Amino acid sequence: MATTTLPETEVEVSGQQQQNKPATKYVYFFGAGKADGHGKMKDELGGKGAGLAEMTNAGLPVPPGFTIQTEACREYMRNGGVSREVDRQMEEALAKLEALQGQKLGAGENPLLVSVRSGAKFSMPGMMDTILNLGLNDKSVEALARRSNNPRFAADSYRRLIQMFGNVVLDIEKAAFDEVFEAKKKQKKAKLDTDLDARALKEVIEEYKRVVKKHARRDFPQDPHEQLVMARDAVFRSWQNERAKHYRRINNIDDMLGTAVNVQAMVFGNLGETSGTGVGFTRNPATGAKEFYGEFLMNAQGEDVVAGIRTPVHISELHKIMPNVYDQLRDITTRLEKHYRDMQDFEFTIQDGKLYMLQTRNGKRTGLAAVRVALQMVDEGLITKEEAIFRVEPNQLYDFLVPRLDEKSTKVEVLATGLPASPGAAVGQIVFTAEEAVKKAGHGTKKNPVILVRAETTPEDIQGMEVAVGILTSRGGMTSHAAVVTRGMGKCCVAGAGDITVDEKKREMRVKGQTFKEDDWISLDGTTGRVIKGKLNTIPPKADDPELLKLMGWAEPFRKLRVRANADIPRDAVQARAFGAEGIGLCRTEHMFFGEKKIPHMRAMILADNEKDRRAALKKLLPMQRADFAGVFEAMDGLPVTIRTLDPPLHEFLPRREELMVDIALLPRYSAKQKKELVARYKDYRVKGVGDLKTVLPALLARVEQLHEFNPMLGHRGCRLGITYPEITEMQARAIFEAAVDCTRKGIKVHPEVMIPLVATLKEMANQAAIVRRVAEEVFKEKGTRVEYMVGTMIELPRAALVADDIAKEAEFFSFGTNDLTQTTFGFSRDDVNKVLPTYLAEGILKQDPFAVLDREGVGQLVRMATERGRKTRSNLKVGICGEHGGEPSSVEFCHQVGLNYVSCSPFRVLTARLAAAQAAATEKLKVEGGRTK
Ligand code: PEP
Ligand code: MG
Repeated sequence: MATTTLPETEVEVSGQQQQNKPATKYVYFFGAGKADGHGKMKDELGGKGAGLAEMTNAGLPVPPGFTIQTEACREYMRNGGVSREVDRQMEEALAKLEALQGQKLGAGENPLLVSVRSGAKFSMPGMMDTILNLGLNDKSVEALARRSNNPRFAADSYRRLIQMFGNVVLDIEKAAFDEVFEAKKKQKKAKLDTDLDARALKEVIEEYKRVVKKHARRDFPQDPHEQLVMARDAVFRSWQNERAKHYRRINNIDDMLGTAVNVQAMVFGNLGETSGTGVGFTRNPATGAKEFYGEFLMNAQGEDVVAGIRTPVHISELHKIMPNVYDQLRDITTRLEKHYRDMQDFEFTIQDGKLYMLQTRNGKRTGLAAVRVALQMVDEGLITKEEAIFRVEPNQLYDFLVPRLDEKSTKVEVLATGLPASPGAAVGQIVFTAEEAVKKAGHGTKKNPVILVRAETTPEDIQGMEVAVGILTSRGGMTSHAAVVTRGMGKCCVAGAGDITVDEKKREMRVKGQTFKEDDWISLDGTTGRVIKGKLNTIPPKADDPELLKLMGWAEPFRKLRVRANADIPRDAVQARAFGAEGIGLCRTEHMFFGEKKIPHMRAMILADNEKDRRAALKKLLPMQRADFAGVFEAMDGLPVTIRTLDPPLHEFLPRREELMVDIALLPRYSAKQKKELVARYKDYRVKGVGDLKTVLPALLARVEQLHEFNPMLGHRGCRLGITYPEITEMQARAIFEAAVDCTRKGIKVHPEVMIPLVATLKEMANQAAIVRRVAEEVFKEKGTRVEYMVGTMIELPRAALVADDIAKEAEFFSFGTNDLTQTTFGFSRDDVNKVLPTYLAEGILKQDPFAVLDREGVGQLVRMATERGRKTRSNLKVGICGEHGGEPSSVEFCHQVGLNYVSCSPFRVLTARLAAAQAAATEKLKVEGGRTK
């Protein structure tokens, strides 16, 4: 890592340091129009620190200060503390700051106060800790009161410091301070925080100090230097807090980066009516519209705006209150945008009518806004078309696919209108806490849509927000925590719906004289900010937004990989095609058997204990399968369709063994009504009346016992089914080719690719390929029409990858089933991995969930090797991937690098995969750094 160094004469070499090794420069000063660092030093200074250096160098009005670089944080993580050299450089920088300001930290008549903030390379909003007003103590608070001529402000600043310091540095629960504060408000009959006067706040301070003493068993430190060291270390520690770790995990940020700490002279937005503070964006982060966008509060401090404690005012109001400051702010932010060539998200404070810029960074935005801003910036000549391709994260394209509310389906009763914080629609059942959200949202197929309703969200809610389908808050603005985080997640959010009262204790929400409880249904429109009573239907979106098409039009020519979709039924195939799928990469035929008409025959086939009965059941399934395939061929007219023969273990189609055992045991005691219900439940198993139950259920249990496997995922499944019951493959092949011939005759262009699952050996492949080819010839002969087709295999077992050259003798194409390949390579059960995965991620044993992001080193190596070996045997071998990874941007990039022909993913990820594939190719071609735009 590049760290600049101090000349040796300036550093005191500590005992641990080697004699000739120059000491690391830990502390970077900025102020008076000049900074030690610069904007490109995000690795060292973090995003915030680099921005402060850059803004200072650009001559912007930035309060001076210094940044303690990330190496000190890593040192803290390694050793549990920083070296003496860090302390020394920090004191030196502090002395410089004091000299520049003509103040002393927390001392004298004009005490210097500082903020201590985290700032990592990648923005992690609200995840780590911040301390403001540091330097205040029992003495300096009086000086501040005299200097500002505002004792209330001084007391308020001090009580905030004790509260933040107590919480962040001394680990005291926020609630302990809140209780004191709320009690004081009650006692003084104050409605708002600002209704408490200086005397009341002084009483609060004394009580806060007692809280500190009680919980931390020490006094609040009066020595400002001690405060600074403790605060710095607490910020370093906050890199490792659970929220931050979790945020890094879901955003793929390396745990080892560490955070920088920014120490900066405080400016105050709460000095009275000519002071204020705000945040803003140079363009609208939700829609991308080119409008100056932001919110502010007069007589307030930073966290009042961000935490949504008071609902802020639109930035245009500032124009009325302080036109000069407004013009200056517009001028500076326009310059900033031009300088960074991207939309900026900025923070500012006005102290006694003077503007200070506190922060600027590339703003987070929705997918819609990302596309629109990129297009605008090309038009404005700020960026090139090639750069525009990288200004949108592929996963963000999901925003174009988010549903809208179907307002015609039911009567729409708007309960309240809040801010349209993050677009899309969400329909779900109310929960009031993050824990409840996690509990109720469920997993996998048992997912329940929940909407997290809070007065305001805090970083502690992150896990609940992640599982909820939508978020509603009654307080806070477009830049509140809820708004920023949901936009990043691409999740619908309505924020600051002020008409709603959220009573978290009683677990109810009151609005318009109505009370809503947990589990009540509401619908949110994140695009307009409306909160609607009840459960509306949603309308699927259209992916043909003209701006999106334009951007894709620039990206697509770079793309080498084809993008197909995994779809099992015609409706999904049509959807996938609308999103730009260039074929079906996986049609899981087993999904076709779950239809109401088909499942009885499927079950009869499984229960048959001889070939004759099995063939009879298969005969009934044949016309249905044929119709399904014809539907998919029709939808994909002219494009390839890969159809996989039956794959899952057969017991998945039968009742659960334990359930059957219970029913058999309890049958004699069941009431007549219960018995009737059983008849209905087992009607597919030739149970016609109550009298049949006694004989059929035990026979069914016996068959289920026969089929029972200890490890079904490694058992009688995949090609093993077709090898032991060749008539299944025969029926499926016949259905495919009969449908293909019928469609061809109707003028539909079909390109069937028959795919054999879970192959491990050449002979397995040869066995199944022979059946498919034989049946194809039979059908062509019977019908007098031929269809071009291919037979290939999935590569989803390590052995198949190892002997890929052999298997390619029979297989005309490979498709990596990376769900199973990950399962079999790691030896993780894909259904049970969540028992260990959270610990593995928390401990850093795995960096990512390998079932979500392809494990390049292990599974990826098999993919690369099998592709190379397969193509050695068959140079034109077509190779694709159809596991979940086929729609995940980093995995798509890897597939491009390995030289696959296509990726296949669920229809809703097709757009993402297309852009990811284009970016991967463009990165190579343009030699630019792909991926993050931040
Ligand atoms: C796979 O294993 O990656 C695959 C696509 O098949 P399935 O998920 O159906 O096992
Ligand atoms: Mg599989």
